[in-house]
Amino acid sequence: MKPEEALEELSYEDTAYGGNCTYEVRQEAIKALQKQIPRKPIDKTKPDDTASLAYENCNIIVCPTCSRRLKLKSKGKYCDKCGQKLDWSEKDGVQH
Ligand SMILES: [Zn+2]
Repeated sequence: MKPEEALEELSYEDTAYGGNCTYEVRQEAIKALQKQIPRKPIDKTKPDDTASLAYENCNIIVCPTCSRRLKLKSKGKYCDKCGQKLDWSEKDGVQH
């Protein structure tokens, strides 16, 4: 099932009508909603990589949902590959 189809099944006017809100429809809805919840990017930089330690742009940061590399320069609010919302805030207080 395509997300567009799931959205169509969920978007009915009459509240009394249950629609075709099947398991499949709900799974698609859940997937879409989960991408709206910010997730922290994953740091896959090797600890012994001196270039990465010297230059932040050499760090390997990947999307927590699709595991594709994220651009550190732009630090986009969303992954441009899968649309996952990203949380770039650093809890441990490390400044770059
Ligand atoms: Zn992604």
